[in-house]
Amino acid sequence: MAYQPLDVNTSIDYVQNRPALKSILPPQGKLVAEEVGDGNLNLVFIIENQLNPEQSAVLKQALPYLRVAGDSWPLTRERMRFETQALLKQNELAPGLVPKVYDYDEEMSLVVMEYLGKHEIMRKPLVARKHFPLFTDHISTFLANTLFFTSDLYLTGVEKKELQAKFINPHLCKIQEDFVFTNPYMDSPENKWNPEIDAEVQAVRKNAELKIALAEMKKSYMTNGQALIHSDLHTGSIMLNEHDTRVIDPEFAFYGPMGFDVGAVLENLVLNYLSHYAHTPDFEQRTHYQAYLLDIVCNVWNEFARKFETLWKENNRGELAPNKYWDFPDGQTAFAKYRERYIQSVFHDTVGHGGAKMLRRMMGIVSIWDITSIEDLKKRAVCERLAIQIGSRWVLERRQINSVEQMVEIVREETKDVEI
Ligand code: ADP
Ligand code: MG
Repeated sequence: MAYQPLDVNTSIDYVQNRPALKSILPPQGKLVAEEVGDGNLNLVFIIENQLNPEQSAVLKQALPYLRVAGDSWPLTRERMRFETQALLKQNELAPGLVPKVYDYDEEMSLVVMEYLGKHEIMRKPLVARKHFPLFTDHISTFLANTLFFTSDLYLTGVEKKELQAKFINPHLCKIQEDFVFTNPYMDSPENKWNPEIDAEVQAVRKNAELKIALAEMKKSYMTNGQALIHSDLHTGSIMLNEHDTRVIDPEFAFYGPMGFDVGAVLENLVLNYLSHYAHTPDFEQRTHYQAYLLDIVCNVWNEFARKFETLWKENNRGELAPNKYWDFPDGQTAFAKYRERYIQSVFHDTVGHGGAKMLRRMMGIVSIWDITSIEDLKKRAVCERLAIQIGSRWVLERRQINSVEQMVEIVREETKDVEI
C-alpha cells in the first residue's frame, strides 16, 4: 500500500486487511479507533474490538514531518523502521519491559504493537505522588540488559558493527544533537522559555565553561557508539502501573553513549522532584515524596551498575577484553579494576548527559509536562532556576562526581533554602 497518513476510519480498514493482525484484531469484530498521539512526532491510534476489549492494539504511524513543528519541518518516515527494530531487539533482551510488536509496514511507515491499556505515562502519576515499588528493578534491568548485550562487552566486533549498521539513524540523531546540545544555548527561533527566567537563560548562553562542557557532551553523543541506546528515555517514554513497567517510543535508537539513557531517567526524576515545590504545597507531603524520588534516583543507578557488572562477569563473550586476555597472575584483579573504571566512565557520562538534558528542558524546543503544568509562572520559575543550577553543576562537575549519592547531594544543596 502506497504511503498515506491514516485516520480513525482508514486505520480500521487497514488493520482488517493485514494477515498478521487476524488473531489480534479479528476482521469480523466491531473495531473502533481513537487517535491519542499526544506525542510530538507521530500519529498514534488505539484500536479495540468493542465485542471483546481484550482484543486491542496500538498503531503508530510516522508523518513525513515533525508534528510539533508543523508540516514545515520535514522528517524522514524511516523512523518507524528504527522504532520497530529497536522494539524487537529490546523485546529479545528485556522481555516484558517493552510492548510486543504485532506488525510492521515499511511502505506505510507504521508499526502495530501491544496496547498498554492498564498503564499510565509516568509523568502524571509522579506529579500525583504515586509509588511504584517495582520501577527501580524494572528500569535497571531494562538499562543493564539493553546496554550490556548490545555493547562490545558481549558482542564480537563484527556482530556489533553489523547491528550498529542497522541503526545508523542520522535524522533523528540530528534532532537530539541540535535540540539537546546546541540550539537551546544560543539564539534559535524554536527555543521557548518562561520569561521569568530570562536572566538565567541569558547567563547560560554566555557561560564559557558550561558551553565548552556541553560541546564535550555533544561530542560524546555524536561519536561514542558504545551500545544500542533508546536515546529518548524520559518519563514520557515510560508507561507503568504498580506491577508492570514498559519502555515505549524508541524511534531515536542508535549506537551512542550508555550514559545518555541512564542520565535521562535520573534527570527526569529530579525534574519531577523540583516540580513538587509547586505541585505539592504541603511541606510534609512534599518532603516525603521528594525523599522517595531521590531514593529512586540512587537505587536506579546502583542497581543498574550492579546488574551490568554481574552480566559482564557472567557473559564476557565480547572481544573488547576477553577472559583469556586476563589470564595472568593478577589478571582477575586487573579485570575487576577495568570493570570498575568502565562503569565509572558510564557514570560520568550519566551525570553529564543528565545535566545537559535537564538544561535543555528549561530553554529549548520542548519542555516537560511536570513543569509546564505549573500555571503560576513565578512558582514555575522557582523550579526552573533550580533545574538550571543543578543541570549546570552536573555538566560542569561530572568528572569530580564519583557516586550517585554525590549527584543527589548536589540536588539537596541547591534546594536547601527553597522558598515558594
Ligand atoms: P511520539 O513518538 O509521537 O511522541 P509516543 O510513542 O510517545 O509517540 O506515543 C504517544 C502517546 O501515545 C503516548 O504518550 C501514550 O499516551 C500513547 N501510547 C503510545 N504507545 C502506546 C501503547 N503501546 N499503549 C498505550 N498507549 C500508547
Ligand atoms: Mg517519539
